[in-house]
Amino acid sequence: MANLQQIHGIAKPLYLGIFKEIMYLCSLRAYTRAHAPKMDKEQAKNRIDFLRASLRENSRLYYVENAPVISDYEFDMQMHELESLEAEYPQFDSEDSPTHKVGSDLEKGFVQRPHRYPMLSLANTYSIEEVEEFAARAEKSLEKGFTYSCELKFDGTAICLSYRNGMLVQALTRGDGVVGDDVTANARRISNIPLRLHGDYPAEFEIRGEVLMPYEAFDNLNREREEQEEAPFANPRNAASGSLKLIDPQEVSHRGLWCTLYHIPAQSLSFSSHDEALNAAASWGLPVSSDRRICHNISEIREYIDYWDVQRKFLPYATDGIVIKINEMEYQRALGYTSKSPRWAVAYKFKAEQACTPILSIDYQVGRTGAVTPVANLEPVQLSGTVVKRATLVNADQMEMLDIHEGDWVYVEKGGEIIPKITGVEESKRAPGAVKPSFPAVCPDCGTPLVRAEDEAKWFCPNKDGCPMQIKGELLHFMSRKAMNILAGEMTVEQLYNLGLARTPADLYDLSVNQLLCLEGWKERSAMRFRKSLEESRSVSFERVLFALGIRFVGETTAKELAAHFGNIDALEAADLQSLLEVPDIGEVIAESVYSYFRNPEHLAQIERLKAAGLQFSSSSTGAAVSDALAGMSIVVSGTFSVSRDEIKAMISANGGKNSGSVSAKTSFLLAGEKPGPEKLRKCESLGVRIIGEEEFRSMLPAASGTLAETAVKDTEPQQLTLF
Ligand SMILES: [Zn+2]
Repeated sequence: MANLQQIHGIAKPLYLGIFKEIMYLCSLRAYTRAHAPKMDKEQAKNRIDFLRASLRENSRLYYVENAPVISDYEFDMQMHELESLEAEYPQFDSEDSPTHKVGSDLEKGFVQRPHRYPMLSLANTYSIEEVEEFAARAEKSLEKGFTYSCELKFDGTAICLSYRNGMLVQALTRGDGVVGDDVTANARRISNIPLRLHGDYPAEFEIRGEVLMPYEAFDNLNREREEQEEAPFANPRNAASGSLKLIDPQEVSHRGLWCTLYHIPAQSLSFSSHDEALNAAASWGLPVSSDRRICHNISEIREYIDYWDVQRKFLPYATDGIVIKINEMEYQRALGYTSKSPRWAVAYKFKAEQACTPILSIDYQVGRTGAVTPVANLEPVQLSGTVVKRATLVNADQMEMLDIHEGDWVYVEKGGEIIPKITGVEESKRAPGAVKPSFPAVCPDCGTPLVRAEDEAKWFCPNKDGCPMQIKGELLHFMSRKAMNILAGEMTVEQLYNLGLARTPADLYDLSVNQLLCLEGWKERSAMRFRKSLEESRSVSFERVLFALGIRFVGETTAKELAAHFGNIDALEAADLQSLLEVPDIGEVIAESVYSYFRNPEHLAQIERLKAAGLQFSSSSTGAAVSDALAGMSIVVSGTFSVSRDEIKAMISANGGKNSGSVSAKTSFLLAGEKPGPEKLRKCESLGVRIIGEEEFRSMLPAASGTLAETAVKDTEPQQLTLF
């Protein structure tokens, strides 16, 4: 991972006062030329190496992890700086430099297919002067009259759809521009992508565009993720791209994705202009934006840019710029391509919207994990259509990096996060004698000295079992809808805590009706309702119980993976680091967190009490393995089955087998459902690993565990409550 401090270090001059305003207006290249310190060869080489490493890592974070740590602007700045350094020092240019490559979103787990025509990204600029240069070049090299097609630049993730005989047959992501991930099953779940065309469509063609997540769907999704203590997506674009890569197409249909199409590769059909092609596509029922405009010269292009720089704030989805294309196919062909992008188009990017407002005070909030987050209370200010009153300062390093002083005027940006981010300080407005706020040395809630692990950016309150905010946070998490779904909110938890009635989740199951009636405003009816939801929580599945335990870094998805892989809590508890790392998608950080959770005697005692309260601690609902029919076997599951894949995995664990994510020489067999991954099939073939179907698999198991669903229902009937 590139050194974050260094990356932010580059961007720091941007944050300095008046510079910011100048930067907003001036070209990046001009900036780089004017402000880069004169380097010698050695320094240039080092700088080039650093920029390449940083761009590669950030490109991976952006395209693959969907979790960028630097802004697009910072990324583009680094790219431009690298380009100009490579131009100045051609001896250090190299074919594999990020400047010659399209970023790649290819991911493991998807089948990759070649694009018929390479899928390139556009050259982009923040400078209107560079748009003018683009137009001037076009006017110089194209003699006859030509036009520009100006369009909104949608901020989503690129997609390429193929239609044959009017039917959608394939959807690929951009990938690395040469091959893309096949996401056809997911694209079919996007409501405005037609599966079947109408009108006079060609027999075969492909069309490209963008998959977006509208703001409303994005807010809903992030609210859900916050509730589950899963990291929210940084912006709608990352959410769209993450959603398009979901393994479960069913889940995709709930994400509210939306598609807009903007390009038919010229080679595939004979249209005379880009505009004509898009109008035709619209007539076949394809979603094409009507906010396009044909411009004849640079002043019309400028008008279009100025208009949308304001109007885009009222659109229900994110746009980040304007795309200007030469409209006539003949001229597009004449201009051609570079290795990375077409010469007949350019993208002008808008700078993220900001507001400047003073800090009134800073709160230090303790989360359920004990992490302390500084949050600034701001003089309310309008930003992207909403009033902003609070903004996160992220952590102590960030405060130091921004050089925050008390009462500072700060720049606030909404990267799509729920809480906006402070990106810079207006030093010219700093009051004389202003002091730096001191990050608390002790927990603002319980007074315990804060600690910070070497590799963590956050300070933590280590008083896990005595810190009121953490205890209440844990209880709320345990009771939340996606966990045990126990009907009670913050107020109840506050009271239960203050009266000393509940400190741990297990305490909830010991509460008597009389104790509940002590709570302010509680009558018999509310007590019975609470009791009923406790009863119902006894049949909540193991994976949700595991999520409810609040093990650090174990969100809903990870809990599912762990439950399916290990089948029951005893197997999970006994697992060493190595076997935890064998679970698909589980890396070192999560493995270590899970491992150390089960090494804490208090956690084990808590689990024993919850077991005694009747909660589900195994996927098969009978505790230990149902049989040892699959003992010693390592099994890889691929494709779709008559039940969910998680259930299949649970059946494997329950019968003593081991779930493995990838095929190797050690694999006992591949359990293949419908449409198994071709990569896995190929690997089995080359290694001579046996492939068996669902029916044969079920015949290997004792009769009882073949009908898992039925036994589960019978065994999970709520037990009688004896404590009331
Ligand atoms: Zn504390």
